[in-house]
Amino acid sequence: MATMPDKHIDLQCVHCGHITPFIKPVPACPKCGENILRAKYDLKALRDSGWIDKVLTREPGMWRYHELLPLYNTDNIVSLGEGSTPLLHAKNLGMMLGLKNLYIKDERQGPTASFKDRQASVAISVMREQGVKEAVVASTGNVAIAYSAFAARAGIKMWSFLTSMVPGEKMREAAIYGGEVIKVTGTYDQAKIVASSFAESRGLFLDKGIKSVAAVESMKTMAFEIAQQLGWKAPDWFIQAVSGGMGPIGVAKGFEELLELGLIDKSPSIGIVQSAGCAPMVRAFKNGQRVATPVENPQTIIATLSTGNPGRAYELLYDIIGQHGGSMEDATDEEAFNATRIIAQTEGLSVEPATAVAFAGLIKLARRGIIKPNEVVVINCSGHTFPVETQILGDQYARQVDVSGLNQKVSLPEEGLLAALENMEHRIRRIVVIEDNEAAGRLIMRILQAKGKYEVHLATGGAEGVVLVERMKPDLVITDLMMPDIDGFKVIDAIKSDDRLRSIPVIVLTAKELTISERERLNGQISGLLQKGSFMDEDLLQSIVDALS
Ligand SMILES: *Cc1c(COP(=O)(O)O)cnc(C)c1O
Ligand SMILES: [Zn+2]
Repeated sequence: MATMPDKHIDLQCVHCGHITPFIKPVPACPKCGENILRAKYDLKALRDSGWIDKVLTREPGMWRYHELLPLYNTDNIVSLGEGSTPLLHAKNLGMMLGLKNLYIKDERQGPTASFKDRQASVAISVMREQGVKEAVVASTGNVAIAYSAFAARAGIKMWSFLTSMVPGEKMREAAIYGGEVIKVTGTYDQAKIVASSFAESRGLFLDKGIKSVAAVESMKTMAFEIAQQLGWKAPDWFIQAVSGGMGPIGVAKGFEELLELGLIDKSPSIGIVQSAGCAPMVRAFKNGQRVATPVENPQTIIATLSTGNPGRAYELLYDIIGQHGGSMEDATDEEAFNATRIIAQTEGLSVEPATAVAFAGLIKLARRGIIKPNEVVVINCSGHTFPVETQILGDQYARQVDVSGLNQKVSLPEEGLLAALENMEHRIRRIVVIEDNEAAGRLIMRILQAKGKYEVHLATGGAEGVVLVERMKPDLVITDLMMPDIDGFKVIDAIKSDDRLRSIPVIVLTAKELTISERERLNGQISGLLQKGSFMDEDLLQSIVDALS
């Protein structure tokens, strides 16, 4: 009963239109190589069978729409009670903005408090159906949290690669579910590259976000619920803060399917809001371009929205807006933080910064008259309700203020981990490890010696380390920063000021977040930065070393 023998799903290439049956996740169109494929269902058969009446007798939750999700056997569903979130009529904020029909789709009320729960539930269920035991994903935070939670439930091992911009609270939240969390020093786009080469070298399943069928399909369930909550009507607008664009692409597809099913009579306009420091889509849209120029170095502290290169997703959104209407807007971090207070104080909702960006954009679209007073507007509201004030007024905010005062870009070597380990593979034979915590030092030695190729020398203090480096002239130095006698900064100064030692690459191991001035001191001096503690254990490092060999 649980299997659906009649169910047939095709995948259609968004570029050339080629159709293949969906048997297992395929990385790209076999004909043209395009990697975004659209799932197609037999909507006519569903329409003729009175499908929606059946749906409405089922338990709430997004899986009530399972016929339109890319899973063949409902026994494979991995659920934490996601979906069926409330649609709140925002009367106070609406009054402020002159919008009588403003609604908030409150995705905060999902199991891990963002709309990524929908994506995780579908993606992990599909993985289970495909027999995947271990998977890799790159994330700006919320995907890693949601995937790790659902994967824990399914007994699937998750490797989440997060950009180092992600706040520590989110990293810890992802880590608590028992998956591996790898912090990549660099941008999200770089984290994606590291994740994909890791997956490839280990032969692991790589979840590709927007480019994965499960992710886009899961977002349709938001559209289904919204239409039902509005009495089988589409809103005039669907507004969301966008990074990669998966949300609105999936939501728009959901409304299009409802149209084909005859349940609504139009699709909503789409309002896309990006963080001003990382707004490649908005910039291209305002210039009337169908292809976006990537932003290489996102300048926003809102890591959730830091996709610098939107690729084909932008073209899809551009076409959706061309067809159904819509607009794109940006909002600065400061505008977002102001919006956070406004939403909290008018509607009693504590939202995360990424969602605040959506609200800041909504405020602009309303004030400019792009959204009309009588239009029905739905805004996607996600966000962890971890203390808002630490996100807004805490370290992150202070850090941003510091940066602007410095007036100078700090560029630590990016992808330090990957680059350093690759170097090791190719030429490094002799390594000096400087680490005052002997247990940690021995752990690093063991990891490296397990490879059998390295001659590793351990110094348990900075002064001893400098002497050892001078004597050994190693191929690589790995040093701790905080040491009682001579600290890592001074060790690096000593190495870099000596003509005979200057060319030796140095990798820094640190347990603490670096301050701006500490980063400045390391700038240009080191080849990599490894975070110790909860995100680095023997298993992890060993796996990566294995992966790259
Ligand atoms: C992932 C995320 C976004 C961006 O979503 P995309 O549709 O992938 O661009 C925005 N806001 C929140 C809260 C998110 O978790
Ligand atoms: Zn194709």
